This record gives sequence, C-alpha cells and structure tokens, in this order.
Amino acid sequence: MPRERLYLFDTTLRDGAQTNGVDFTLHDKLAVAALLDDLGVDYIEGGYPGANPVDTELFGRDRSLRATFTAFGMTRRPGRSTANDPGLAALLDACADAICYVAKTWDYHVRVALETTLEDNLASIRDSVRAAKAKHREVLLDCEHFFDGYKANPDYALACAKAAHEEGARWVVLCDTNGGTLPHEVEAIVKAVTAVVPGDHVGIHAHNDTEQAVANSLAAVRAGARHIQGTLNGIGERCGNANLVSLIGNLKLKPEYSGSFEIGVTDDKLAHLTRVSRSLDEILNRAGNRHAPYVGDSAFATKAGIHASAILKDPATYEHVRPEAVGNRRKLLVSDQAGRSNVLAELERVGIAVERDDPRVARLLDVVKEREAVGYAYEAADASFELLARRMLGKVPQYFDVTRFDVNVEHRVNAIGERVTVSMAVVKVTVGDDKLISAAEGNGPVNALDLALRKDLGKYQTYIKGLNLTDYRVRILNAGTEAVTRVLIESEDENGERWTTIGVSPNIIDASFQALMDSIVYKLVKSGAPA
Ligand SMILES: [Zn+2]
Repeated sequence: MPRERLYLFDTTLRDGAQTNGVDFTLHDKLAVAALLDDLGVDYIEGGYPGANPVDTELFGRDRSLRATFTAFGMTRRPGRSTANDPGLAALLDACADAICYVAKTWDYHVRVALETTLEDNLASIRDSVRAAKAKHREVLLDCEHFFDGYKANPDYALACAKAAHEEGARWVVLCDTNGGTLPHEVEAIVKAVTAVVPGDHVGIHAHNDTEQAVANSLAAVRAGARHIQGTLNGIGERCGNANLVSLIGNLKLKPEYSGSFEIGVTDDKLAHLTRVSRSLDEILNRAGNRHAPYVGDSAFATKAGIHASAILKDPATYEHVRPEAVGNRRKLLVSDQAGRSNVLAELERVGIAVERDDPRVARLLDVVKEREAVGYAYEAADASFELLARRMLGKVPQYFDVTRFDVNVEHRVNAIGERVTVSMAVVKVTVGDDKLISAAEGNGPVNALDLALRKDLGKYQTYIKGLNLTDYRVRILNAGTEAVTRVLIESEDENGERWTTIGVSPNIIDASFQALMDSIVYKLVKSGAPA
C-alpha cells in the first residue's frame, strides 16, 4: 500500500529564535538552513522580513534552497487594504517561495487584542491569502490560539480555517499557541477540522508547555493532519516548540508511522540526525541535552550490571531502536570491558593500531576517565584525544618546549584620549638548541597568545604556516566543587582540514594555552614533521 506523504515544516529560525538567549546572526541562519535543507525538511521558515535587519537581509535575495523557503508575517491589519499595509508589502516582496501568515482565530483575541470585528478578521484572512496567491507564492495560514479559540467558539475558529482554505492556502496550520492542550483534545479538534478542510491541507504547530508537543503533533497526524511544524531540539519560547528531531525519529522508526507515512528525510539522512542536532547546539554555544531522545549523549548509554552484559550479547534487549539509525552511538558506562571496547573503537577511528589486550589501553582508559571527570570532553575534541592516545602509546615527539609565557592586558587612555584595552603576549620557546622569543599584540589575551605562539617556531614554522584558528568556544563548568573553564578550539589548515582541541583549567588563559598547544602539535604530527 502506498504511504501517505507527511510534510515537515521547520521554524527554528523564526519561532525558535524567540528562545531566551538565542540570537541568530545572518551567518547562523544560513548555517542552520543548510543543515535543515540537507536533512530533507520540506519547509524552512527563515524569519520575519521587515521586522529586523537580519531577516530583511536573509530574504533580500534567493537562497537557492531545495526546501520551500518561507517568510512569516501578519495578515493585513484591520481597517487597511492589502495595498496600503507596509508590513504586508515587505512580506509580499521578500525573496521567498512561500508565505506563512499568522492570523487570530479566537474570537476573544480578535475583539480584545485586534480591536476589530469578527467579520473584518475573516476578510483580512481572505484578502491576505489572495494577495500572496497573486504574487505566485505558496500560502500557509498559522491559526493562532486555534485550540483555545475552538473551545470558546468552534464555529468562528472553523470559519477562519475554512476561509483560508477556500482562498487557496496550501496549508491551514492549527496552532496550540499557549501550549496547554492535551493530546486527546488535539485529536478530537483536528478531527472536527478535517470535516471542513481536507486533512492533506491541515497542519499542526504545537508548543511544549505540558511536555506533550511531540505527542500533540502525532495526535494531530492520527486525526488526519499531514503537515507538522517544529524546531530543531525543540527550541522556542517558554518550554519550546515540538521537537522536530524527536518527531523525525518517531516518524522514521516507529512502524505505526513509518508504515503509513513517508517524509522527506531519507534513511541515509536519518543517520545524520544526531550530528544536525548537535550542530545546532554548537551554533548556539550551549551544552546539548544529554538525555534528549534519539540524539542525546545518554540516549543509548547503559550503566553497567546486567543491562550492559545483556546489551553486549544482543543490543536489542535494552534499546528501542538501533543508535546507528539516527547517527548516535551506544555507550556502556562503568563496565571496564565496555570502556575498553569504546577506547579501542576510538583508536581505530583515528587510525592508531594497537593490540586488543595491550595493557596501555587500560591505562589510556583510566586517564580519559580521570580527565573527563574534571571537565575534558574528548568526544568534542578528536585531535586532543588522538594526541593523548599517541602520547600514551609513546608516539609523539617533543617538537618544542614553551618554557615561559606572559600575557598582559592593559586598559588605558591612548594618545587621542580614547579608552582602549590592549593585549600583548610574550612567549619563550626552545626548539632543539634554539631559544626563541616572540611577542605579539592581539585583540584579546588569547588572540595575542595564539599569534605569539605561532610567530616563530624555528624549523617547524613552515609546517604551521597554513594553520588558522576558525572557532573558539568557552564554557564554564561546575566540575566537583569549583568552577573550571573549558575551551574548545577549532583549527583549519591549508588543505581545508579541520580539527578540534580542548583545554580545561580554572584559568581561561591556561585552558586556551592547552588547546592552542594541542592544535599546533596535532598539525605537526599530521604533517609528519621530523622530531
Ligand atoms: Zn509558535
């Protein structure tokens, strides 16, 4: 039997951007859009053209996405014509494939918030859909407060949905704006809507205020809706939006859904789900939720005892799906046997050959555990793990020695009376018999240290010429009783190869120094520099 098509609509860049502490730059938005496009999401809502400079620039030109790139905005304002509404004009002029309008569908909100009549609100919906159709855009209507509106005045809420559909809106999206509706209510109300608007034109937009946004989205699908809106990792204001990552896992891997429905995410792309989820956290510079279903670090982590030994015999005993399906990894904690296989797997991945029963593997495992306990995260820092492993297996030359460094930050008034902060670093290095001193000024202490370190490494200088620092991330951790700083540095070489190194210390300069050193040494190892 052919499966029905379900459409996924991502609003990470619009509704997700409402999250406390989330502030996407244009660069971030394009990076997230690229992730979503590659994953196979059908619609990407980029933002609200005309509302802020980033969104206006985002929609200033064609972004050549495979997905339907969607602009968000309000229907025409009460008492105005569509031709005389600047907000609507910005939306209609945006370089977008589709326009998603938001309109009020709760009679109480129409009267109190919009201060207009129920009839004028219906006319605004009709006019706005028509105006976008005239511009050859695909049209969606987000029905704000639909579920609360339906409970208060079902006829009016349905009339709004019907008006949009009759004018040719591709999707009428039912929004649980306050996020308080329960799954059985969603199912019943969506069913009532599909009696007036066909289900393959009905969508769901759920918020997570009762921790049921994913369940509500699936309940809507059961009742006939064929379009789901959500965000990566469920970001969004208050408690967030429906988590598209969990939804994709469920829709692809639970036979009840995968047997009846097809989505734009292929099995191959599903294996990138974990990477996509973690990439968003990286862009937001925040720690991922370890316990996130499907993609969290702990989603397939089992702690010792009978579970672990059963998993070693047959993983299906304690796992609801295979971690590889979503690009995640099985993790067995505590058990030395399992930790050893993890380390062996990592060594194999970075290309270090070692005998299974080599006692140094057990020592390496101990060191990794000790270091992770104080804040190191080797999963995020492949290059540092590889160096640690190579050192413990006795294979990294002592190329050079930084005998001393000094970093100075000075705040003063300059010659023309401006207050400036100047950073300078001096580094003393021994390379073979040569003793070298380099100094550099930078736009901050870490930048100055980086420049001074890489200024003169004597005979190794040619190897690190093409080395560039491409990202620098700092996180304050509470490891044990005191706060420590974890620094992750991403570097790139002249061949476009990238790697990440890590440093952990109570002192941010020291943590940065460790990560910078690892990056340079890693590059020398990789280039086969002679000892
Ligand atoms: Zn919303």
